[in-house]
Amino acid sequence: MAYDLVIKNGTVIDPSQRLHEKRDIAVSGGKIVSVEPSISDNNARDVIEAEGLLVTPGLVDLHVHVWWGVAHLAIEADPHSLARGATTVVDAGSSGANTFAGFKRYVIDHTHARTLAFLHISGMGQLDRDIGELEDIRWARVEPAVETARHFADSIVGIKVRLSEAIVGANDVVALGRAIEAANHIKKPVMIHIGGTRHPLEEIFGKLRPGDIVTHSFTARPPGIITDSGKLLPAALEARKRGVIFDVGHGAGSFGFKVAEQAMEQGFAPATISSDIHVYNLRGPVFDLVTTLSKFLHLGIPLDDVIALATLHPARAIGRLGEFGTLKPGSVADISVLKLQEGPVTFVDAQGDRREGKRRLLPVVTVRAGHRHFAIQA
Ligand SMILES: [Zn+2]
Repeated sequence: MAYDLVIKNGTVIDPSQRLHEKRDIAVSGGKIVSVEPSISDNNARDVIEAEGLLVTPGLVDLHVHVWWGVAHLAIEADPHSLARGATTVVDAGSSGANTFAGFKRYVIDHTHARTLAFLHISGMGQLDRDIGELEDIRWARVEPAVETARHFADSIVGIKVRLSEAIVGANDVVALGRAIEAANHIKKPVMIHIGGTRHPLEEIFGKLRPGDIVTHSFTARPPGIITDSGKLLPAALEARKRGVIFDVGHGAGSFGFKVAEQAMEQGFAPATISSDIHVYNLRGPVFDLVTTLSKFLHLGIPLDDVIALATLHPARAIGRLGEFGTLKPGSVADISVLKLQEGPVTFVDAQGDRREGKRRLLPVVTVRAGHRHFAIQA
């Protein structure tokens, strides 16, 4: 049989199939055709030799900002996703009901990486760095958000709201209520951004529904999930028990090694790992999703679990597992070929705290719907 592409001799890690072994992968018509111990590449149009490399489902970054030119913090998607190992990115609130149609036409439709979005409950999305999008609560309107999310149901996976006092003033709880109301209408999750909220997290977490997502889970900006005495906030545990998903969303100011270490010592690992890559952290401390994944490898999460947290789990969190986040035959050929590079590496968090690591993940080739994109080394 003639294949469009065969990936040979790589170590395949696909948590959706509990697979971690040497396999070849055949791709035709943009789909994965087979994953077998040995596949002939005799008639293949293209071959990727992956000896010594890891082959995983295309990485999914659940929190990015890619409404370039409109949202103040946004970057272009493809150079920082496909070229860095991610095949799916989820924009977290760069656009709102007032701007989403433009985001769809001028960004989503022209981006090779699969681009999905949490729609901001603020109609303006994240337009400005200094003027918070919900300082004037009139921007938080349920009806246009619901209408937009229904019209663009294929692209919009949920509702975003940022709750820091600098962004929403005293409106955090009201804004969250409206975000949840909109999300109830469309039956999709809310993603909330924590760190620097006026109201305590007990009150905020208490409103979340199963499947809702907390991003910036390991922020060092109080109030956070670790209390002053170093203990995990009981409300965070209760929320997790209820099915709330705690995401990383590293960002420029929202990930502290110490917080993550204290949380993980108390059994509180992230449910998904995302980068929150944007213009203010692109040149460090985030760089890309694989660097964020490498930080969690360093913190002690096993490799297969780290891959699951950026493939299977984010795909499931937005109700798209089966469509992507897996290498099962029949699914779209979104594949990341990664290198686990051994050697000293310094990791830096959002506070400038450092950790000396021993290995890191690097992208080599990314396949999106059967087309290969070479990694640009940062
Ligand atoms: Zn963000």
